[in-house]
Amino acid sequence: MTRRKDRERFLIRKKLDPKYGGFRGYQPKPESKPELKSITCTLCGHRRNVPQDTEEADFVCASCHSPEAGEAAEG
Ligand SMILES: [Zn+2]
Repeated sequence: MTRRKDRERFLIRKKLDPKYGGFRGYQPKPESKPELKSITCTLCGHRRNVPQDTEEADFVCASCHSPEAGEAAEG
């Protein structure tokens, strides 16, 4: 849906600045995923894969962070 608008914007930009080539300074990124570690959530007890730099103490997973999402599960 928004793709057409992006393209229009790109064309306008290109018209204004002929040197504008879209992605300036484009560099291909190496396919490297961030290292994950598994931490047990202190609230629900589920193991979650999180980035290495996540603090393990008092770890609360994403679903526990939004109480509204998980509240219905337990009475
Ligand atoms: Zn949790």
